[in-house]
Amino acid sequence: MKKDSKIYVAGHHGLVGSAIVRKLKDSGYENLVFRTYEELDLERQARVEAFFDQERPEYVFLAAAKVGGILANSQFPAEFIYSNLVIQTNIIHASYLYEAKKLLFLGSSCIYPKHCPQPMKEEHLLSGYLEPSNEPYAVAKIAGIKMCQSYNRQYGTRFISVMPTNLYGPGDNFDLKTSHVLPALIRKFHEAKIGGDKSVEVWGTGKPRREFLYVDDLADACLYLMNNYDENDIVNVGVGKDQSIWELAEMVGKVVGFKGDLRFDHTKPDGTPLKLLDVSKLTALGWHADTPLEEGIRRAYQWYLEQL
Ligand code: GDP
Repeated sequence: MKKDSKIYVAGHHGLVGSAIVRKLKDSGYENLVFRTYEELDLERQARVEAFFDQERPEYVFLAAAKVGGILANSQFPAEFIYSNLVIQTNIIHASYLYEAKKLLFLGSSCIYPKHCPQPMKEEHLLSGYLEPSNEPYAVAKIAGIKMCQSYNRQYGTRFISVMPTNLYGPGDNFDLKTSHVLPALIRKFHEAKIGGDKSVEVWGTGKPRREFLYVDDLADACLYLMNNYDENDIVNVGVGKDQSIWELAEMVGKVVGFKGDLRFDHTKPDGTPLKLLDVSKLTALGWHADTPLEEGIRRAYQWYLEQL
């Protein structure tokens, strides 16, 4: 990308899109295009194509998606599969029709099989059954990957796909019914501290292990890959280290300053037992994540406090 290239960030209000915009601006890219939901409903194909016809973006970051935690995925499976399939299809196809130079599609680590060997390598895609709690979302993301690869093969486009691990940071969703675990724990510990509660409820057994990437690190990786990666194969983006939900809860409690106990609610689902990405491909390409987890949680908590 040149500093004056026209760059469209789809989903610029979201956790990932807003971090990509911050990173682009900080890096001196000045010709950025966005549309709010009110201005452009990405589920309407004709409107998306009219927007591409008018703006002709050269580079596209496809960070628009319907996302949510374990409960939201099981409660709204139709919305997760429909919205993601339609949004990504509209943007990928319009990028082809209106000759975008390059597109970066954001997938997710949940595309890998439930019982995938750990850490999960890019080649494990489609090698086993998916985790049922987020299968509709994962199937949509897998369709997006295959669409990018198929367009590259048939039309000679340059559409790359990036698979981030669990993300967190400024701009996260802190609604306890739909959020992922990390923002949920920040909020629960904060409210317990303020309310003087003796304990905090953590869903499941606390035994599943998850890897967490600070969203500004992901944005940095996305710019790096947009500028330096041109192959058809997907690329994992993570930190290469995981911890149990139990350990995570203890760390969040420490950052927030909550001194009470953890109470595990076994009626809530654990989800997939392990979800650690193999990041050796990205490391070999010359990129690694910078933000230690505790530091990232501190920044995310600070952002949460500023929103209150
Ligand atoms: P997943 O990575 O797709 O399973 O999504 P989540 O981030 O929603 O959940 C990760 C793990 O954290 C699961 O084992 C959850 O049961 C557990 N967890 C513990 N407490 C919470 C909570 O308050 N909210 C959420 N979303 N998950 C929690």
